[in-house]
Amino acid sequence: MGEDVVPFNRPYATGRELGYIQEAIDVSETAAGGPFARRCEAWLADHHGSAAALLTHSGTGALELAALLAGVGPGDEVIMPSFTYTTTASAFALRGAVPVFVDVREDTLRIDADLVAGAITPRTKAVVPVHYAGAAVDMDPLLELAREHGLMVIEDAAHALPSDYRGRPLGSLGHLGALSFHETKNLTCGEGGALLVNDESLAKRARVLFDKGTDRARFLRGEVDRYTWRDVGSSFAASEISAAYLWAQIESVDEITASRRAVWDTYHAAFAALEDDGRLRRPSMGTDGAHNAHLYGLQVTGPPGRDEVIDALAARGVQAVFHYVPLHLSEAGRRHARAHGDLAVSERVSGRLVRLPLWAHMPAAPVQRVIRAVHEALGAEAPATARP
Ligand SMILES: *Cc1c(COP(=O)(O)O)cnc(C)c1O
Repeated sequence: MGEDVVPFNRPYATGRELGYIQEAIDVSETAAGGPFARRCEAWLADHHGSAAALLTHSGTGALELAALLAGVGPGDEVIMPSFTYTTTASAFALRGAVPVFVDVREDTLRIDADLVAGAITPRTKAVVPVHYAGAAVDMDPLLELAREHGLMVIEDAAHALPSDYRGRPLGSLGHLGALSFHETKNLTCGEGGALLVNDESLAKRARVLFDKGTDRARFLRGEVDRYTWRDVGSSFAASEISAAYLWAQIESVDEITASRRAVWDTYHAAFAALEDDGRLRRPSMGTDGAHNAHLYGLQVTGPPGRDEVIDALAARGVQAVFHYVPLHLSEAGRRHARAHGDLAVSERVSGRLVRLPLWAHMPAAPVQRVIRAVHEALGAEAPATARP
């Protein structure tokens, strides 16, 4: 047997998660809205300067709540990249709205105001920038465009805690922002998410929709003597078990981010020469803010092609994965959405992208093994530090 496989992801636990879950059990608080959930929400609202932060069962739940709050319905259009995760689009399609896919920039793999501007029609109601890989969409021109056209801005910041755009935390710039705490994200509680409500005028209704369409929050504050059905809504909240787990992660956010950045920076330095040789393209994170090292995705310019590289890495015990079949090419994308113009970059990048193993506190040995394997897979000589 050779060495163990270097997994793509290894969810990081701080060691305090179980103790906090035990605390929640000890005080008989296991449903939504308990002390850990309030702590997480207070931290998230404070970090982002949001009017409210609502802890949800998933990032998808946060996007679905955002779509409900945006009030979009049949015939309304919502502009977003095709190069994103399924639920960026399905959250709006679920309301009968039409996702309108635009291409992403060749350099950053993110949308910008120029790409969005051409897709605006009288039916456009909202735009959903996705902060891919935890680095910022160029938000100022996009926010200006949205203001001019009266569009709601809903940030898909699922990758992006705690990254920023010119000093402003991602997720805090649009009317609404969605975060994810899925196992694959930087901070996790298995499954979880949050909706950041940045537009104060949406906060009251957000709370009611989040509370299954009731005014339970006002009842708990003693403002009404019973709570009743006030609006549409659903069960969006995370349980206190998840919140307890997440609180341990939030407490360690700086340490988690720093350790991921160290791995990311090591990869980036190690692949500079391969980029100079024209064998691959390293990720371009832009200069608009600090990124959280959510993922390291390199584009192989081949030959060898993307699948051959992934297979060659697998043969060396390194689990690498591709990213995003563009949504406009998917079965449901064709049925529920439409593409605006030519999405050539999304299609090309999807065929080239290889994401490398990266997790918090990933030790030096597997990092060097990945670096060595990438060089071998591309037929290049590995740098001295990465030689066996
Ligand atoms: C992870 C992710 C989501 C969905 O989050 P879940 O918590 O898995 O529901 C949405 N959008 C993007 C870009 C994501 O990466």
